Amino acid sequence: MNIILFGPPGAGKGTQAKYLVKKLNGFQVSTGDILRDEIKKDTEIGKKIINDMNNGKFVSDEIVNSLISNIIFDPQKKNRLIFDGYPRSLSQAKNLDLLLKKSNQRIDLVFYLNVNKETIIKRIKKRKIEEKRSDDNLDTIIKRYDTYMSTTKPVLDFYSKNMNFHEIDGTLEIGKITNKMDFFTNL
Ligand code: AMP
Repeated sequence: MNIILFGPPGAGKGTQAKYLVKKLNGFQVSTGDILRDEIKKDTEIGKKIINDMNNGKFVSDEIVNSLISNIIFDPQKKNRLIFDGYPRSLSQAKNLDLLLKKSNQRIDLVFYLNVNKETIIKRIKKRKIEEKRSDDNLDTIIKRYDTYMSTTKPVLDFYSKNMNFHEIDGTLEIGKITNKMDFFTNL
């Protein structure tokens, strides 16, 4: 089963992705984690993206798409993909479609964790203290939220027409969100 998790930064995608990975023996595809790793390892890609990441801007589709393609064509991960933070633009969504078709896969479920800006700000402030993430300062949070909302809107429109798209209230407790996802993954 391949699943896409949508939602602005701080919506709880990471937490829910980890739950689904465990439940479905899946593989979490977090482009945020993959990109942070490139920075940590100080790779050529890492050097190119550090400024955009720290300014709450999206990394170019070209870079993100190339990183994702290796994962999709990995036979060990086939039909076990839990996407967290990808696709985030229409171009990424179309690229994903193409790669999935080429690898004989499809998206089974799309979950949109919908959360308002105030809740996100509160949550990310808390996470900054707990996880010490360098891109988690208030200014960046707001920029990331706004960038997400404006750029991801067309992606939502792209997927929301399909029967497998489910919007979930992301302000609910973690367990309640998990229960709602269980309902659809158990079908
Ligand atoms: P996240 O951990 O998903 O909140 O992502 C952190 C940051 O990584 C974002 O603010 C972007 O700068 C970058 N990023 C993560 N995923 C993507 C993506 N699919 N496309 C472009 N930039 C991304």
